[in-house]
Amino acid sequence: MAQQEDVFKKLVSHCKEYGFVFPSSEIYDGLGAVYDYGQNGVELKNNLKKYWWDAMVLLNENVVGIDSAIFMHPTIWKASGHVDAFNDPLIDNKDSKKRYRADVLVEDQLAKYDDKINKEVEKAAKRFGESFDEAQFRSTNTRVLEQQAKRDALHTRFAKALNDSDLEELRQIIIDEEIVCPISGTRNWTEVRQFNLMFSTEMGSTSDGAMKVYLRPETAQGIFVNYLNVQKTGRMKLPFGIAQIGKAFRNEIVARQFIFRMREFEQMEMQFFVKPGTELDWFAKWKETRLKWHKALGLGDQKYRFHDHDKLAHYANAATDIEFEMPFGFKEVEGIHSRTDFDLSSHEKFSGKNIRYFDPESGESYVPYVIETSIGVDRMFLSIMAGSYKEEVLENGETRVVLTLPPALAPVKLAVLPLVKKDGLPELARTIIDDLKFDFKCQYDEKDSIGKRYRRQDAIGTPFCVTVDHQSLEDQTVTIRFRDSMEQERVPVSQLRAIMAERVSYKTLFKQLNG
Ligand code: ATP
Repeated sequence: MAQQEDVFKKLVSHCKEYGFVFPSSEIYDGLGAVYDYGQNGVELKNNLKKYWWDAMVLLNENVVGIDSAIFMHPTIWKASGHVDAFNDPLIDNKDSKKRYRADVLVEDQLAKYDDKINKEVEKAAKRFGESFDEAQFRSTNTRVLEQQAKRDALHTRFAKALNDSDLEELRQIIIDEEIVCPISGTRNWTEVRQFNLMFSTEMGSTSDGAMKVYLRPETAQGIFVNYLNVQKTGRMKLPFGIAQIGKAFRNEIVARQFIFRMREFEQMEMQFFVKPGTELDWFAKWKETRLKWHKALGLGDQKYRFHDHDKLAHYANAATDIEFEMPFGFKEVEGIHSRTDFDLSSHEKFSGKNIRYFDPESGESYVPYVIETSIGVDRMFLSIMAGSYKEEVLENGETRVVLTLPPALAPVKLAVLPLVKKDGLPELARTIIDDLKFDFKCQYDEKDSIGKRYRRQDAIGTPFCVTVDHQSLEDQTVTIRFRDSMEQERVPVSQLRAIMAERVSYKTLFKQLNG
């Protein structure tokens, strides 16, 4: 665990040192859980958004995009249930004065049981070697069974408390499980209270009665209230989807996990409108499609898993998360929900407008059901950084830090490095960049030794470096160096485009989505 925390700390400082992520307002000592993206971060983030956007609207004929405003009519948030129910249960430790989400404390406790069980299994696997039968061990070992029984009992109790919104019981679970504050180490807890996560501000001047408006806590509602506009103007037939990328705001209670949990963040959401009764098939299909999208990035299939929800939101009839193995454990990066007709029906009721779909095939009109896929850009960014960050010990004993980013997402695709700053080498390097810069993000670097320059590019995940030397002037060849293998090859300048194009193209990722 300590080792993992260490990795996470290194990752956070790497993000800052190499211009990926800076704390917001840093010269004023920062602003809690708000972050800025630097020169490399913004490129990676834009590439990530493009990967999602194109996977939605380019690859699916029946998915289109919109970009709705952050401010919306306040009644929308009444209709969606956010004004009354967008709450998290909070609890304070009286000694450290630190605030926690009560549900997260219990989830962490469940993860501890899982860890204990997995450790027993790992130990036994080592002991028994090849003859180890994991299933049998899990179902017969007394220590495992004991932990499993405790975990299951806690899980049942926790799910019930959440479903009943029973705050006292939630507190009692924390007490009974002897959960301590990680800062003070004590069990001196306050009551559990509900806390609404929406930010609000005023629109209009106060003299003529300003209106309280909210900063949207999710982008989805902008899609619901535009559903009919898009359906009519795009002459869309069910099933069809609407995708959107945009900022969302939540006044999170606990904000100590870097860009995993922010107060201002970005979401990529897609609402897929279907005929009632077909929603669970579509739910299964989108689950599979979205997992493929994640796995195509090549960070390791074993790093993803589904986690079905214990407590279904008031609007959902099925829900799952795609979790990624972060340095601090498996955590949600994307939610997939079958939202029934809850949102559209509610907007119909609150607005008094008819937002039904007329089905030309059956002649009926109905409110469509909705499958939502909702992913946080920033969490996805963190998962990619965590999955790509490597410290490798080289043959000569040196360590290199490399980001093995999927090439399509890398902030810089090609670095062009003249061996020396004279003899016409910088000029030739510039000519190469001028030729390739319309297709690939290139960077010129002439400072320090070639070795140091390679390291700088490794640290930001640049898949290709090209070195221009004296021979290049004579025969128009250069040395291309591949980031992951560190192999070098002499190739004609004229072939660079072709060598890179296929490898850095999104197509390479998209092709895996069809399989
Ligand atoms: P959590 O349980 O972690 O608070 P959630 O279940 O409330 O998340 P959703 O409402 O399903 O999250 O939001 C969809 C996605 O938006 C999440 O999977 C996550 O990637 C992202 N997201 C939600 N809240 C935040 C946040 N505070 N900071 C960054 N990303 C977030």
